[in-house]
Amino acid sequence: MKGIVSKAARTVRSPRVCHRCRNSRSYSGITEKLPSLSTPEGLRAHGPFRTRFAPSPTGYLHLGSLRTALFNYLIAKATGGQFLLRIEDTDQKRTIPDAEQRLFEDLEWAGIEWDEGPKVGGLYGPYKQSERLAIYTSHAEQLIKSGHAYRCFCTQERLHKLAQLRNTEGAAAYDRACQRKYSIDQAAEMAAEGKPHVVRLKVPKKYPPLTDIVHGVATKRVRAKKYPTTTTDFVPSSFDDPILIKSDGFPTYHLANVVDDHLMKITHVIRGAEWMPSTPQHLVLYNAFGWTPPQFAHVGLLLDASRAKLSKRNQDIDVASYRKQGIFPETLTNFVALLGWSHTQKKDIMSMDDLIQNASMKYTRGDSVVSFEKLWYLQKNHAARYALLPPSSNPSHSLINLAVEPLVKLLNEAPAEDKSFFTAIPSEMGKKDYVLKVLLADAIKYTTPPDFLERNRFFFKAPVRAELEATITPLQLGTTVLRTTAISDKLESASLRPQILPSHLLPIIAQFEQIEESSWDSEEIRGWINTISLQASLKLTPPELGIKVENEAEREAIEANVQKAWGKMIHEYLRWALLAKMSGPESAATMIVLGRDEVLKRLSLAQEVMTEWEEQQEVEKEVVGERTNTA
Ligand code: GLU
Repeated sequence: MKGIVSKAARTVRSPRVCHRCRNSRSYSGITEKLPSLSTPEGLRAHGPFRTRFAPSPTGYLHLGSLRTALFNYLIAKATGGQFLLRIEDTDQKRTIPDAEQRLFEDLEWAGIEWDEGPKVGGLYGPYKQSERLAIYTSHAEQLIKSGHAYRCFCTQERLHKLAQLRNTEGAAAYDRACQRKYSIDQAAEMAAEGKPHVVRLKVPKKYPPLTDIVHGVATKRVRAKKYPTTTTDFVPSSFDDPILIKSDGFPTYHLANVVDDHLMKITHVIRGAEWMPSTPQHLVLYNAFGWTPPQFAHVGLLLDASRAKLSKRNQDIDVASYRKQGIFPETLTNFVALLGWSHTQKKDIMSMDDLIQNASMKYTRGDSVVSFEKLWYLQKNHAARYALLPPSSNPSHSLINLAVEPLVKLLNEAPAEDKSFFTAIPSEMGKKDYVLKVLLADAIKYTTPPDFLERNRFFFKAPVRAELEATITPLQLGTTVLRTTAISDKLESASLRPQILPSHLLPIIAQFEQIEESSWDSEEIRGWINTISLQASLKLTPPELGIKVENEAEREAIEANVQKAWGKMIHEYLRWALLAKMSGPESAATMIVLGRDEVLKRLSLAQEVMTEWEEQQEVEKEVVGERTNTA
């Protein structure tokens, strides 16, 4: 892109383009003022747009190309237009056999469905460039006839020598020898005789300025240079004349892309900034044909945290790898949509429908740094969103398809000792239901199936004695839960981290047994936790805590604080007893998912471990006491 966007263009509009035309259809010569494309409402007022995604099957879909496809898709959908898929397979040598099929699969998975293109057809097909060769040849002929293009019979050897003489100017820097040497008819005859040749565009003295939706007006210098000739074989001038038709009869990207965008009635082209340097040449082609070009928006590159271009080495892995990891389609589309586009919504979490709703062409001018933390944030939030949706017929929103199935598959492959509780669930259906329950309880933490299973491993097997022993800690009341300025000093000075004896807490916990199976629900359980923390706190009055109470308001505040502290400690105890302290859903949700029988079983083992631990603590205290006495 270097050198093509003038400094002036980056700040002010070029004087050649009337400033009122900035958001108008200046390219088509219509200069009426239209609302800005950078708001969803403005965008709709311009529509309907016909856009396209035109991948070359020389690689798979990556984050960058997914973003290009998505941006084009969104503005077509938002404006009630059409989104096309076109396979640009003119570089046959670099074509990867399964790339086309994979592109279809990845786009379909991402929910980016094309209105016209391979598989679905359309009025302007075929949508694969290798099936349109005759169209390109006839268009190239048209340009030759009108003097905008010419046949070039130069051999590779000559071009190589030319490039060498001109010191790295490259094959594009051509001296137009053939154009000077042969008349159009002579050249046509030679071509008819089967003489190998290419067709080149004759670039004019000046490139037309490019008005880009993102970058404003940009101008490109024509590389027409003079070189001293060293031999009579070479002409001193050198031109940019790019090849339009290659010697194998295939068009180059430049010709095929322009011809197809025109014939397919594309109104807007959003693509990566790496294509910007070619666009002025494309404008030359549009002018030569007498066509109106579409509007262009060149979006910045994707960079990693160290501002290097995103590559395979730094996670620009193909879309299929994200899918295999268990990323949801809407997580990925949401993620790439936020790279280089800004919106005015309060939240970044957007479904595909939200993205369409909010679509605009407010693309950022610079490159975008990709933060993968955001990907996980979005994944968790989409999981939580799906958990609240009614079971949907849309497979891309269904937690059953997206997460339950992969989780069950992973569990089936897991070692027996890691899933004893899960294995005991009678039917396949029952197993799936159970996994869904765990998922719904902890959706906001869902990232990938392996991570989720690791995080929630005690939902699939009960903690064993050793795991409880390894994670046990003294029961202590924390009093920082409810701080008010009026009493905080007192609480501080009362050294309020009283240790609670297990024999004090365990009978309270045992009360869960009184909840009947039929009323084992979260409301009931939460009610019990409140009641038992109140009961417990009544046993620990302010005087027992060493606090002198001045008035009734203070008493109430302290009592509420102590009750909260008990509540918190009960939750901590339950987390230890049920899940060996692993973080997970809150206590009541955990107890509902595990079910009454399993909870009581786990509480009973925990009680044993805790009681033994208390006894051992007592013994240790006595030993220490004796030692101190004898000393
Ligand atoms: N075939 C080009 C590519 O592979 C298309 C570029 C464009 O959108 O014009 O990205």
